[in-house]
Amino acid sequence: AKGAGKNQWRRYQRHLHDEMVERLELRSALDHAVNEGHFLLHYQPIVDLASGVAVGFEALVRWSHPQRGVITPDQFIEVAEESGLVVPMGRWVLEEALRTVSEWRRVLPPGQAPYVTVNVSVRQFREAGFVDQVRTALHHTGVPPQSLMLEITETLLMKDDEQRVWSDLSTLREMGIRIAIDDFGTGYSSLGYLRQRPIDVVKIDKTFIDDMVTSPQPLALVSGIVSLARNLQLTVVAEGIEDVAHRDLLVQLGCPLGQGFLFSSPLGPTEVLAWMTGTTV
Ligand code: C2E
Ligand code: CA
Ligand code: CA
Ligand code: CA
Repeated sequence: AKGAGKNQWRRYQRHLHDEMVERLELRSALDHAVNEGHFLLHYQPIVDLASGVAVGFEALVRWSHPQRGVITPDQFIEVAEESGLVVPMGRWVLEEALRTVSEWRRVLPPGQAPYVTVNVSVRQFREAGFVDQVRTALHHTGVPPQSLMLEITETLLMKDDEQRVWSDLSTLREMGIRIAIDDFGTGYSSLGYLRQRPIDVVKIDKTFIDDMVTSPQPLALVSGIVSLARNLQLTVVAEGIEDVAHRDLLVQLGCPLGQGFLFSSPLGPTEVLAWMTGTTV
């Protein structure tokens, strides 16, 4: 029995060791990708639920790996966060998203270009000069601040040095940029808490949208968020809408905006233009 225990321990250590090596390899590959610019952005429409018209697009990063092809963030965002590589990657994401919007603005009729919303890691706020970085990127691309929204995840926000992040968010909002709380409902903040905060949009996490059709608790939560948000003059986006039943229920609840595979999966930048002009590529 003693020998068996020892073997188990060795297997466990080997497992830990393999995992560590894997993470280190991923980290160094990611470092390389940041230096070489091996990323691309896909854009998922945010739709006015009543009319079906796209009002904005969320920029979602992909790693374009020379051997392994296109890799989605669930495979690397955690390592990017831990290693801090999310900071230079995030800078590229912001600049690329704004370059793309400026292109949409050039091509589409005036007033018809959608806004872009960009995911920002709390780590990006820890670096001094994030606000300046955003200001400079807007200036270089000529995109008005009203065409940019920044998304920050609820749970990350609660964990971090709040004061610093919130004061940066206030400054950005005063510039005319909209601020969204992402994955709302997964943390422990209440909408009342958000009342005094510099926020424009609440994005309800997919898990609640998934379950609200069949269970009363998530339904009550979604319904509560929608009505409270209206009182606080916040906009609501429901995430991960996959079927008509979800959409219909959300419209009934008075939820203005949504995104999900029902409308479209994330698209390449030229597919976005095709979507906006109603043509096919
Ligand atoms: P998120 O911000 O909550 O983004 C929504 C995710 O849900 C996206 O996954 C999107 O493709 C997926 N999605 C959208 N509609 C549906 C649906 O109807 N059903 C299902 N099952 N999924 C749907 P993606 O692109 O893999 O991104 C995953 C996460 O990675 C994002 O979650 C976000 O937290 C993070 N992320 C993505 N891009 C960036 C970025 O540029 N910077 C940072 N810091 N994080 C990013
Ligand atoms: Ca997001
Ligand atoms: Ca989300
Ligand atoms: Ca999410």
